[in-house]
Amino acid sequence: MIEKVVIIGSGPAGYTAGIYAGRANLNPVLYADEPRQIGAFNIVPGGQLMFTTEVENYPGFPKGVMGPEMMELFRQQAEHCGCRMVGRMISKVDFSRRPFQLWDSEDQLIEAHAVIVATGATANWLGLPNEQRLAQSGGGVSACAVCDGALPMFRNQPLAVVGGGDSAIEEATYLTKFASKVYLIHRRDKLRASKAMQDRALNNHKMEMIWNKVVVDVLGDNKITGVKLHDTVTQQESTLELRGLFIGIGHTPATAFLKNQMQLDEKGYIVLKDLYRTTTSVDGVFAAGDVADSVYRQAITAAGMGCKAALDAERWLAAQGIE
Ligand SMILES: Cc1cc2nc3c(=O)[nH]c(=O)nc-3n(C[C@H](O)[C@H](O)[C@H](O)COP(=O)(O)OP(=O)(O)OC[C@H]3O[C@@H](n4cnc5c(N)ncnc54)[C@H](O)[C@@H]3O)c2cc1C
Repeated sequence: MIEKVVIIGSGPAGYTAGIYAGRANLNPVLYADEPRQIGAFNIVPGGQLMFTTEVENYPGFPKGVMGPEMMELFRQQAEHCGCRMVGRMISKVDFSRRPFQLWDSEDQLIEAHAVIVATGATANWLGLPNEQRLAQSGGGVSACAVCDGALPMFRNQPLAVVGGGDSAIEEATYLTKFASKVYLIHRRDKLRASKAMQDRALNNHKMEMIWNKVVVDVLGDNKITGVKLHDTVTQQESTLELRGLFIGIGHTPATAFLKNQMQLDEKGYIVLKDLYRTTTSVDGVFAAGDVADSVYRQAITAAGMGCKAALDAERWLAAQGIE
């Protein structure tokens, strides 16, 4: 059997593509990651919102909603609209032939006329056990300032961002709207960020640079109380009192299995052929969500792209005479 549409990825983009493709009678099948443990990380289907607590900025939930609960609703809605779910990763693809060939984590071959890639971009974490524990329990550790910075728990509190690039400074600058103080913890004695961004950070009276330090532990039982720092020059350890920690060390798009199959940018994000569409360098392969968007990285933008990808796939299939 040749699938009309295979959707890869189980976050807001993939599930929304499933809702639209299901309603368009394309009988889509969605491949989601199987639950597993990698080091300190629990991998579960549902995407990045499985690793956060309250989502306050997704429309339709005036009182907010817990990330895992929202993703369960997405999944149910996609299934209700006729999207089939398979709990296996896609590990390999061959986009050079038609129908496209894909292999899942059990090495089963799937053939598809169209593919929607919605595999996301994972926030990079430090990988410390207490960091993961407090991130998953809503204890004040996050990898997204725009998402979580406005939560009441962070207002008028001392916060810190780890990192030294443009995105770390952007996160730190954003947090100064709410925090009493924002420390930027960087392992070197100068920032990697552009000159303009550096000036923004160094001239912000609420921001304080902490140079040559790495976070070696996150302190606190239910809520973060501080971090333990290691000085990369003196090798001494110290503690810094905090009520919130934001990790700003970049994202890794989940595209390793797509290398040499389609155009990726230098960071591994899928390159879209047209900024307003979800078309890629391979005709019939569409991309949605954070895997093709290093700028906005929000659930609502990912879901919007999932909708566009399903509509693009539907129209493309119709143009090929496949309905
Ligand atoms: C801590 C944190 C808090 C956040 N809070 C908010 C918030 O409050 N509001 C908001 O709007 N946004 C928030 N975000 C951002 C939001 O989570 C992302 O923008 C959104 O989840 C992106 O959706 P996506 O579908 O593109 O990708 P993802 O959510 O990353 O989902 C992609 C899924 O595909 C899976 N996958 C990857 N490769 C494969 C493969 N080969 N085969 C099968 N499956 C695969 C991944 O494991 C993942 O489960 C937060 C992010 C983080 C990290």
